Amino acid sequence: MKIATFRHEFERKLGVVDEAAGQVSPFELPAGQVYRGIQVLIERALDGEGWPATGDPLALDAIEYEAPLPHPRRNIFCVGKNYFEHAHEFAGSGFDSSAASGAVPEHPIVFSKVPESVIGPGVAIEYDPAVSSAIDYEVELAVIIGKPGRGIRPEDALDYVWGYTIVNDVTARDLQGRYSQWLIGKSQDTFCPMGPVAVTRDEIDLADTGVRSFVNGEKRQDSNTGLLIFDVPTIIATIAEGVTLLPGDVIATGTPAGVGIGFDPPKYMADGDTVRCEIDGIGLLENPVTRRRA
Ligand code: MG
Repeated sequence: MKIATFRHEFERKLGVVDEAAGQVSPFELPAGQVYRGIQVLIERALDGEGWPATGDPLALDAIEYEAPLPHPRRNIFCVGKNYFEHAHEFAGSGFDSSAASGAVPEHPIVFSKVPESVIGPGVAIEYDPAVSSAIDYEVELAVIIGKPGRGIRPEDALDYVWGYTIVNDVTARDLQGRYSQWLIGKSQDTFCPMGPVAVTRDEIDLADTGVRSFVNGEKRQDSNTGLLIFDVPTIIATIAEGVTLLPGDVIATGTPAGVGIGFDPPKYMADGDTVRCEIDGIGLLENPVTRRRA
């Protein structure tokens, strides 16, 4: 199923998307329960409750998609350098503070983005040229955790997955290079576009799902989740070895080659650009890029 968090007539709602019919069927949930988007559905499922009833369908062109989890409870977990070609393009860029340990990591590189960096589809990615002049895009498959767990074995890891969405792991490369911890360069306000929908885990074949990005219509990234260095079960098991994963946690699994820093000269994003991230089976996440005005 495709589930959207969306706005309709100034109200946040959740619903089941039927793209073929051009409609979304809103769940009948009290307004007070939808503030955190699909978090309420994840928690209901944990409590053994079924899907909420749905009301009359709405036309998709009458709604505005929001991030499926507009206010994640915790930082977004992210994996760095998790596709071979990208690991090499980044290690050679001069901005990789981890390059000394080799282009391809021996263990997953796990960092995070603050939850307040999350924005929905269509919302502007804002940057301040006085802070950073090297704004880059990164399309990524993001895992949404469905139940708490620690000490999760790789063979059990997919049982902990509720579903998937798209994250654009927007990055200020100069800040990522300046500070050996990546958090500041990855957590600038608006630097975590998410959406347009979340899909339940049965919708995605992790061994073969296309992942692409475009800037102003020009294709930049074109890969497949089958090429991840550390697959989703390995990532989950690595984090959860001693960190309890919680329902609603989001793990961005890494980006393939073709980011701006991979070009010579680099192709950073600029005022007026539009970046589109696509993952087969999920949809298109498109955001404009805007220079912040004082
Ligand atoms: Mg990334």
